[in-house]
Amino acid sequence: MINIFQPCLGKEELEKIEEVFRSNWIGKGQQVLDFEKLFALSLGVDPQHFTSTTCCTEGLFLATKLFELGQGDEVIVPSISFVAVGSAVIACGAKLVLCDVDPHSLNVRASDIAPKISAKTKAVFVTHYGGVPCDMDPIIELCERNRIVIIEDAACAVQSFYKGRACGTLGDMGVWSFDAMKILCTGDGGMIYLKDKKLLEIAKEFLYLGLPGKQKSGMDRSTDGGGNWWEFEVNRPGHRAIMNNIAGAIGLAQMEKLQDFICRRRKIDERYRRELNGIHWLKLPPDVPSYCQSSYYLFWIQTEYRDKLARYLLDNGVYTTYRYWPLHKVQYFSDAAGGIFSLPGAEEASRYTLNIPLHQSLSDDDVTKIIALIRSFRLY
Ligand SMILES: *Cc1c(COP(=O)(O)O)cnc(C)c1O
Repeated sequence: MINIFQPCLGKEELEKIEEVFRSNWIGKGQQVLDFEKLFALSLGVDPQHFTSTTCCTEGLFLATKLFELGQGDEVIVPSISFVAVGSAVIACGAKLVLCDVDPHSLNVRASDIAPKISAKTKAVFVTHYGGVPCDMDPIIELCERNRIVIIEDAACAVQSFYKGRACGTLGDMGVWSFDAMKILCTGDGGMIYLKDKKLLEIAKEFLYLGLPGKQKSGMDRSTDGGGNWWEFEVNRPGHRAIMNNIAGAIGLAQMEKLQDFICRRRKIDERYRRELNGIHWLKLPPDVPSYCQSSYYLFWIQTEYRDKLARYLLDNGVYTTYRYWPLHKVQYFSDAAGGIFSLPGAEEASRYTLNIPLHQSLSDDDVTKIIALIRSFRLY
């Protein structure tokens, strides 16, 4: 079976993990700090705005705490969002307000957000679908004018840039994922950007047991101070959601390969666009705008024969899927968002879109096979 996603891990990662084993400290330590720094610098941003965590979902939930979202607030979420975005909003007690997206890019536009804004709107979550940046300037302008916080779900947008600026650093907060299906994979892991450095300090406390000040590698304070190092104070109720050195070590090794990964993905994306061009029953994704850089996380095609094509490819050894099933079609979220309503762009996207394999481990032969299968697909 040709997988839709696949990590790319090898001896470089193992060597770095070996160093961690030898150090006898596998908790949060040097490898994690180095990874945070390298990640920030690869985006051209000051590392003091970044901290790592256990997964992107943790960062999405954290956003609701940092920006004090809750009862009486409204939070706008594009219907085509990862499930955890909807959950984070509901869990904090705010009202989930679902909005539409562009049916072809599956990205949210300022014109989708604007009609959903009310006096109670406090935040909006933005997802860069498949690693292609949303058109952020109009969204930023709209949100600034209405004093709305922008939280970017940049889970798929590692190394995506909008007009030279990294996705995830365009709004007030950004979160990335390094889970098993992402381009840069650490097993599980996430990264957080906060525009406001003071909020970053609070974030670190939330992520590590509410303990004040710098995250330590264990609960004990430094032995230097003179007092008992096992006593402590807590500033807030905290989770325990810090990255460990094993994940950090994998991340460091992956950082060295990241440009090659993206380069390979771009080549596959180009082949799909070239060799699937001109099929009358199939639509290709919009071109990446010239002022944007994509991470090429997803490739998608759109066709009214989507379901049948997915089956056909599966029967022939190619796994495909559709991301992300719209939240307004999930009973739990649609109930929370106030019942039946129509979001035509998201409807269209979810009916016709199929994500086909795109990852750095695909061979040229794999790509040839996928293209040939799609070309040989009979509509009736
Ligand atoms: C993978 C993904 C997430 C979740 O990331 P985890 O690290 O698994 O929590 C969130 N949003 C999007 C868009 C994703 O693709």
